[in-house]
Amino acid sequence: MVTQALHTLRDALPSGVRLVAVSKFHPVERLMEAYNAGQRLFGENRPQELAAKAPQMPSDVEWHFIGHLQTNKLKLVLPYVTMVQSVDSFHLLEAINNWCTANSKCIDILLELHLGAEETKTGFTEEEILSIAGEAKEVYEGVPAPLTGVRIRGLMGMATNTDDMSVVEADFARIEALFNKIKALGIPGFDQLSIGMSGDWPLAVRHGATMVRIGTDIFGPREY
Ligand SMILES: *Cc1c(COP(=O)(O)O)cnc(C)c1O
Repeated sequence: MVTQALHTLRDALPSGVRLVAVSKFHPVERLMEAYNAGQRLFGENRPQELAAKAPQMPSDVEWHFIGHLQTNKLKLVLPYVTMVQSVDSFHLLEAINNWCTANSKCIDILLELHLGAEETKTGFTEEEILSIAGEAKEVYEGVPAPLTGVRIRGLMGMATNTDDMSVVEADFARIEALFNKIKALGIPGFDQLSIGMSGDWPLAVRHGATMVRIGTDIFGPREY
């Protein structure tokens, strides 16, 4: 089932779009089904779960962290991941940078834009993201770097949780516009837009997604 779902998704996704298999709540045996079907990029959203699963999976798996991350959990996550997609505060950005600097590592990150109406959602405002991007641009232009442990690779967003696709589309259009605006600044390596999940990824692809994060359509429903 996992194998068939992956083949279907891969056939449907344009070649420039990477598929993040969101494996949270599923046991390693299910992840291995995906691995054996050729999947190498996995996303997890809970630090303990990632730290438990990663050592059990083959070493050529690439892990992305996609959930809310508290700074006291960095040491569970950062040794395993190539990217944190869900950087949602200055405090976290700085803490990741400090951990990486102390551990001679450099990690790719995405800045999470607060999308949708939900008060509970995390993420930066557009203004905050533009201010970070402005600083990043100066750094790349030779101003001494405060952030050497992270590479800002793009933006991540989760659309409003609704069946109304016009609302979801408006969210995607908003993040796409911000992404294009920052891309035009010419920050090297700023080229990733992570939007789209099981219910809405075709719409995300039409709005410029370079990564989609899909769980349910691959692994089936999660048991909480
Ligand atoms: C769980 C999760 C997904 C995947 O959701 P599905 O609806 O199962 O595809 C994508 N992004 C984030 C941030 C998630 O937490």
